[in-house]
Amino acid sequence: MVDQPEFDRQPPETGKLERLSPLVSRLIAPNAGPFTFTGTCTYIVGDRDLVVIDPGPDDAAHGERILKNIGTSRLAAILVTHTHRDHSPLAARLKSLTGAPIMGCGPHRAARALSEGEINPLDASSDHDYQPDRILDDGEGISFGSLEFETIATPGHTMNHLAFALKEEKALFSGDHVMGWSTSIVAPPDGAMRPYMDSLERLIARDDHIYYPGHGEAVKAPGRFVPQLLAHRRLRETSIAEAIRDGVETIPDLVKKLYSGLDPRLHGAAALSVFAHLEDLVARDIVRADESLSLKARFYPR
Ligand SMILES: [Zn+2]
Repeated sequence: MVDQPEFDRQPPETGKLERLSPLVSRLIAPNAGPFTFTGTCTYIVGDRDLVVIDPGPDDAAHGERILKNIGTSRLAAILVTHTHRDHSPLAARLKSLTGAPIMGCGPHRAARALSEGEINPLDASSDHDYQPDRILDDGEGISFGSLEFETIATPGHTMNHLAFALKEEKALFSGDHVMGWSTSIVAPPDGAMRPYMDSLERLIARDDHIYYPGHGEAVKAPGRFVPQLLAHRRLRETSIAEAIRDGVETIPDLVKKLYSGLDPRLHGAAALSVFAHLEDLVARDIVRADESLSLKARFYPR
């Protein structure tokens, strides 16, 4: 049984360009924190025509560093995996400075409507100003000179989340769907657990050799790692269903029981993750809620 996926918590170096492969370089944005590890990984891909993947937060100094590292090469496109404020806002500034089009995910959207009285806890972390020039669909191929990418829809962390496979290196830019240092946050109503787990299964069916995530080190053995992530979520789901059968009724009590030892700054995120599992357990008729589904509801076994 897998308790914890084998994360590589080696912190990547911030502020300077690191070459990771013949075509892929990484520049970390200066936004380290409890949800971002050492900062967002911005990737500069290519040798002639270049593509920037996930430019990062709207930080002028990070933008300047990206431009300096592009140098005299042509920036062919800015690709964006999803609309969180630590990934997409700098796209607009980079576009205005270089003329490169913004491509990738569609505008931000929630997994479901807010229920009555519900406040979206992640609203402030979403980029509602994001305006792509071209939205890429699942399975869509896109080329820039000799660089060829395939788009893979990976909803769950956000519903518009995309991953991009770089064919020449069998590499996958996995955004926040699969990260190197921690499990992803799946938080209702923006995110949803069932599509997240389905998206993990989609990646398990592929044979990418390496992942370049939105935070943390590259995932060098995704064939082993992604099944661990899925097993971890299934185990968590089972523990939640069991705890409810044992009489634990509220999300704060479930967090206390299931996340002992967690950094208290992450308790809010853990509550949202438990909530995401509960939504799915209710939809599957394994658990019922005493009122409309919310963080304050009480939960009982079916
Ligand atoms: Zn994110």
